[in-house]
Amino acid sequence: MMRNLRILVCLLLLGPFLNAQIFEVDTLLLNGDVNKYINIVFMGDGYTEEELDSFSEDAQKFVNTLFLESPFQEYKNYFNAFAIRVPSLQSGVDHPGDATDVAEPVFPVSDVATKFESTFDYLGIHRLLVTDNSFMVYTVLAENFPMYDQPLVIVNSSHYGGAGGAIPTVSNNENSAELFIHELGHSFASLKDEYYAGDIYTEESVNMTKETDSEDVRWKKWLGVGGVGIHQHCCGGNSTDWYRPHNNCKMRFLESPFCSICKEAIIEKIHSLVSPLDSSTPEPSFVINEEPIVYKLNLIKPEPNTLKTVWTLNGEHIAYNVDSLQIDTSMLFDGRNNLSVFIEDTTMLLRKDNHHLLHFASKKWKIEKVESFYNEIEMYPNPAGDFLNLKTTIDKAKNIAVNIYDVAGKKLKSLADFIGLDDIIKIDLSGINNEVIIVEVVVDGVPYHTEQVMRP
Ligand SMILES: [Zn+2]
Repeated sequence: MMRNLRILVCLLLLGPFLNAQIFEVDTLLLNGDVNKYINIVFMGDGYTEEELDSFSEDAQKFVNTLFLESPFQEYKNYFNAFAIRVPSLQSGVDHPGDATDVAEPVFPVSDVATKFESTFDYLGIHRLLVTDNSFMVYTVLAENFPMYDQPLVIVNSSHYGGAGGAIPTVSNNENSAELFIHELGHSFASLKDEYYAGDIYTEESVNMTKETDSEDVRWKKWLGVGGVGIHQHCCGGNSTDWYRPHNNCKMRFLESPFCSICKEAIIEKIHSLVSPLDSSTPEPSFVINEEPIVYKLNLIKPEPNTLKTVWTLNGEHIAYNVDSLQIDTSMLFDGRNNLSVFIEDTTMLLRKDNHHLLHFASKKWKIEKVESFYNEIEMYPNPAGDFLNLKTTIDKAKNIAVNIYDVAGKKLKSLADFIGLDDIIKIDLSGINNEVIIVEVVVDGVPYHTEQVMRP
């Protein structure tokens, strides 16, 4: 019974993958690891197999336009962009309100067989273009690019139209790239329209408020800077109750830049998704500094670079705004030392009070300064299989303990009280599966010797 149940569960889990549809994925922009960077993923709707090259070109055009727009321009290095080449059976898109449009006579106007069933005239609004089958969008994403951060659908139609929401959708009309960036403002950074879109779209948010007091308004730090004020909405419905930060923002007019408030919101979103510290070397946070070692950061830099770094060794600031730092043994105490670096984005595009508390990156290393007389401890073999031998000439009257850590400094095993043992201590490593371990020898409670041991 149990077994049957298990098979059923397996089939249920496998079901969706048995029919997985795998499509080619074009890389449009690649700055780094898809698991770390922000992935914008395009899918086309209404492009047939033969039209997929033109879909990839359309997606590339959108990417090129996006990264000419501040603040995406400054933070381009934080993004990747991909295009999943999903074909539709038929070319074009549903356009029920356009049945008499002779400009597109080749397409049956309201029943085009497209992958995501996109349609114009959503809610009866001519230019409102949405993907009707979002389940299929998420299925294609899950099966082809599950690491997506921001999906986007480009619809194969030269008519102007689009929509925001979780899956921004725009046509490939010549003005769509601007519309795409506006919709991305909604989807990516939760921005509201700065024109009055209607009472149902009103909400206290980053760039919309009812607050008129200059001491309390959410964008008070920007008041008077570059046209930022408390500007009343107009017209219709309850529009006069609501205020926007700027009169000329991309969330209002397509050809305009984003206002300072919207730029700040987009940068904060980028910071919430990606650490400016991509990686660092040495990778382990436990380092034996027997000779000069260069500690190096691989930073994701905005352009221009507004990242600032502060390096601290044993509580003292020793360097600023450098990506790498050499530590000589003369800079270290005997035994354990602490090196850390703090990285913050000091861009003028942010005026957040608590930014340095929310969005920063840091890296810490524990450094062991090893003197030559520690050679009286020898570990072998290295790489070590199930057993590691520790040969020592340390005085038998002393209490020897051994700690095993992973490279992040997490303790995996502790062995104490080796008093009176033979010269060779045999350490059982079975059950420890890490490729690299750090073995620390503690003598009479004092860290004495640390060594990196590889595993086969
Ligand atoms: Zn704005």
